[in-house]
Amino acid sequence: MKLVEVAVAAPIHSTLTYSVPEKLSSKLCPGVRLLVPLSGRIVTGYALGPVVQTSEKYQIKPVIDVLDALPLFPESMIPFYRWVASYYLHPIGEVIKSGLPAGLSPQSKRNILLTSKGEEHFQDVQASSEIAEASWLNSLIAKKKLAAAEVRKLWRSKARNTLEQMAAEGLISINDDLSGDATKIKKEVCVCLAENHLAIINSSNLLVSENKTLGIINELGRETSLEWIPRKDISRKYSGARSAIKKLADRGILIIKDRQIYRDPFGDPPHFYPAPEYLSNEQEIALEAISNTLSKRKFQPFLLHGVTGSGKTEVYLKAAERVLKQGRSVLVLVPEIALASQLEAHFFSRFGDNIAVLHSGLSQGERFDQWMRLVKGDAKIVIGARSAIFAPLGDVGLIVVDEEHDGSYKQEDGLRYQARDLAVLRGSMQQAVVILGSATPAVTSFYNARKGKYKLLELQKRIADRQLPKVQSIDLKGIKTVSGRPPLFSNELITSLKKTYESGDQSLIFLNRRGFSNLMLCRDCGRTLQCDQCNITMTLHKGRKELICHYCGSTSRSDIICPSCHSTQLVGVGFGTERIESELKDILPGATIARLDRDTAVKRKDYLDILKAVRDRTIDVLIGTQMITKGHHFPHVTLVGVVWGDSGLGLPDFKAGERTFQLLSQVTGRAGRGDKPGRVIIQTHQPHHYSIVSAQSHDYNSMYEKEIDQRQKLGFPPFSRLVNFRISGEHEEEVKKTVLALSQTVKKMIVKLKNMVLLGPAPAPLSRLRGQYRWQFLLKGVEIDKIQAVCRGVYDQLPPAIRSGKLKLAVDVDPESML
Ligand code: ADP
Ligand code: ZN
Ligand code: ZN
Repeated sequence: MKLVEVAVAAPIHSTLTYSVPEKLSSKLCPGVRLLVPLSGRIVTGYALGPVVQTSEKYQIKPVIDVLDALPLFPESMIPFYRWVASYYLHPIGEVIKSGLPAGLSPQSKRNILLTSKGEEHFQDVQASSEIAEASWLNSLIAKKKLAAAEVRKLWRSKARNTLEQMAAEGLISINDDLSGDATKIKKEVCVCLAENHLAIINSSNLLVSENKTLGIINELGRETSLEWIPRKDISRKYSGARSAIKKLADRGILIIKDRQIYRDPFGDPPHFYPAPEYLSNEQEIALEAISNTLSKRKFQPFLLHGVTGSGKTEVYLKAAERVLKQGRSVLVLVPEIALASQLEAHFFSRFGDNIAVLHSGLSQGERFDQWMRLVKGDAKIVIGARSAIFAPLGDVGLIVVDEEHDGSYKQEDGLRYQARDLAVLRGSMQQAVVILGSATPAVTSFYNARKGKYKLLELQKRIADRQLPKVQSIDLKGIKTVSGRPPLFSNELITSLKKTYESGDQSLIFLNRRGFSNLMLCRDCGRTLQCDQCNITMTLHKGRKELICHYCGSTSRSDIICPSCHSTQLVGVGFGTERIESELKDILPGATIARLDRDTAVKRKDYLDILKAVRDRTIDVLIGTQMITKGHHFPHVTLVGVVWGDSGLGLPDFKAGERTFQLLSQVTGRAGRGDKPGRVIIQTHQPHHYSIVSAQSHDYNSMYEKEIDQRQKLGFPPFSRLVNFRISGEHEEEVKKTVLALSQTVKKMIVKLKNMVLLGPAPAPLSRLRGQYRWQFLLKGVEIDKIQAVCRGVYDQLPPAIRSGKLKLAVDVDPESML
């Protein structure tokens, strides 16, 4: 009897063994999904490989079905999954599940269609009055179709045999539709000149319309440097093009094909980025180091530290080119959707159809299609957000993590992983080169480079010797308005905004906070309005006339009365981007002002439209949260204003200093990327804080030295490793009691261990969220394997309230945020 090791998509930490029935045996290979029985249910499992010997004590049950004809992931990824499961203390089946495109739900969508043969057959049957007994058969005959939900039920009943019999006779077709009604990748009809088009043209008598069309194709080809020209672009210039194109294709001059369209974030027609003629000296040196290692086909991580605008993307592109020549694949991680598409456009210009993209802007169907292109080897490059680290590539030669310091690489729920760390791990398992690129590397990454774990490559100059902008900081402490509060805009910022506007250039204004006022205060009793579900003050959104909790999204009307004293005298204090926008309209009457944050850019399209407007210069001033800081290249932005530079410094977070520096440097990097020099004004209450001073002088190293010194003194990463345990539940007393009990258990376990301490327990900084009370404690140690051994021990001794699922335990290995 054959046995298979299965990771089930359920909260079980070990893998399970199932037997393989003879009839499934030929279909089963590592990487396919299975249906397997598990304590009375049928669940999805992932086949990992054969089991030679088993020590399972329970009865081994047979696999029910094999769901896939092709493996969903290559076998070489299985050790990676195992490692992730063990490191992040997460059930392996759920690790695999969270790596796969969403929507590969436990039951595949299997629908059944009545074939024409079937229709005929049942007409006869009905004629001979042998009316079907089963109601499902009636409905199949009537509707000519059974939907997935019904098939799922039938498949587990006796009807399955009948259905399989009917399928064998050709009366019905059984369709496994993994992605449901899959939305297709966007395609467009494109034309391309055939290789021998000149010869054919010379020997034929072309019509006027054909000649005219060819002229337009040549012209567009020169303009865009694209080989394939979208037919609609040609028709836009000449209405007779469509029929002419067909005639030209019949003559063999043109080739017509549906082509996948990648859109530039700034809209179509797709922007084409030609390769630069020369690399800069620094790019050359970096690439040489990378190429040398690539040719050895060995694991090597690089940290590419390059100031904003130094041309890191070109280094990735050239390295990718070499890897493709070796026949290996390339995995590129980018922080989020928006940036994905800009980098995507660069990669598309260079590599065309060889690219698959994986990000949250895709529909489930599209995402699945992209995934399968990688499985089949139809695309050798994948570009995606965090979860693309799980992309199914058998032979990765290069993994790029762009903006490696970005917070979005950390998944903050479910499987809490750090994609940048996993990139390095995956590289080591698949003998790949890993490039972590950033203008402001994570302190831990830079530390690894200093220690020689990563090779450091530096790009210190901007391309074309563009200067980094001049940065000035304004001390808000010194300035007071009549009300006694500091103003939102200092005189320097106002003057510069006016000057920039008058000279026809653009400005960016940055504040990392949405809404109008983030605090509603009762004038009569002094109470502040908090969310019912969270211990967080509600933020006023004036345009929407609503108060919104930024953590759980619950809303109430803004004309609310005070719940304590029933006063109607509620005032908004504090400020967010919406208020900045409204004040700026008074300061710059006549200017076109736009705002980019999660309120104005709910959909990807809104976001792209705003960015396009900035690039087209229809917007004079763009106000925004950190959405505006990410990698955008706006050549006409000459002024960047930071409203409140130290807003993040007060957070209870050991990375606050590092984050502030990174954010300020990124936003600063948006200025002066064109021919005119840029200028930055940072308003702050802490002008002497090292994060601000270093950002002002573009001095990463000085920030790093200060930061690493503090981390060493306080024993924070990279000098220690952390695991955060957070318990949440509806009743505060119970949460508190349980967290105390659990921390006692842990304390006993570590009492004899050196270099390990437990901090807490204490209420989490967000002590109540979505109606759940939250308490946590932090385990801090030096060797991660010892800490994990303790954690595993903890899982064996969980308090009953957690085991029963009444309270939730979240274990966060290498937490990035303690909120
Ligand atoms: P970074 O990612 O380091 O901030 P980019 O990769 O966006 O920088 O490059 C900045 C600009 O310089 C881009 O417009 C890019 O096309 C251009 N560029 C990059 N390398 C070269 C080069 N060798 N020659 C000319 N232009 C280049
Ligand atoms: Zn009141
Ligand atoms: Zn809330």
